[in-house]
Amino acid sequence: MNVEKNISQLTRSLPAGCRLVAVSKTHGVDKIMAAYNAGQRIFGENRVQEMVEKQPQLPADIDWHLIGHLQRNKVKYIADFVALIHSVDSIKLLQEINRQGERVSRVIPCLIQVHIAREETKFGFSAEEIPTVITSEEIAGFRFVEIRGLMGMATLTDDTDQIRREFRGLRELFDRVKTMKTPPNVRFTELSMGMSSDYQIAIEEGSTLVRIGSAIFGERS
Ligand SMILES: *Cc1c(COP(=O)(O)O)cnc(C)c1O
Repeated sequence: MNVEKNISQLTRSLPAGCRLVAVSKTHGVDKIMAAYNAGQRIFGENRVQEMVEKQPQLPADIDWHLIGHLQRNKVKYIADFVALIHSVDSIKLLQEINRQGERVSRVIPCLIQVHIAREETKFGFSAEEIPTVITSEEIAGFRFVEIRGLMGMATLTDDTDQIRREFRGLRELFDRVKTMKTPPNVRFTELSMGMSSDYQIAIEEGSTLVRIGSAIFGERS
């Protein structure tokens, strides 16, 4: 894998308004530095411990995005540096992010994870409940959280029509929320969808953040 070449090819292929999150989970700091030297500044990790270990070893101008399931008792370890949490899947988690944001005097940018895939999963809100959640008084009261948009993962399938339908549904939900009257800490600008296998479809359906790992760094062991 030529990480530098992959980064520059991918970056050049993205349309204006879509940014690359280089998913560096399981890969070492040497590979992250190779991507950094090719100009990449946003890196995604799915485990808190791994992100916390890597962050101090790498340049300070990296934006660290947490993309995997986040346990409430781990928010405190990332609150003072995380640039975006993609995977908010409960109000209780948001409450803790708000608490930790207050502790470190930072407004923490978050995306709400929406369950769009056919597969059963414990994580994410259903599309139907998003309008109620986004406009709730409880969320409006979270002064140290800013909701920037939505994140979703499509079904793992070869059926590209199915994947497209799921991404399109998320995009329509995103557009619908943007037309709604929402609290000041809800500012919808980001739609996080697309991974190595399906990012081209996600881009066609309006993704603003693609989360790509193996197509940059190679297969994970
Ligand atoms: C691992 C992961 C990715 C990247 O997956 P690739 O197939 O390696 O591109 C994207 N999003 C999430 C939430 C992940 O956990």
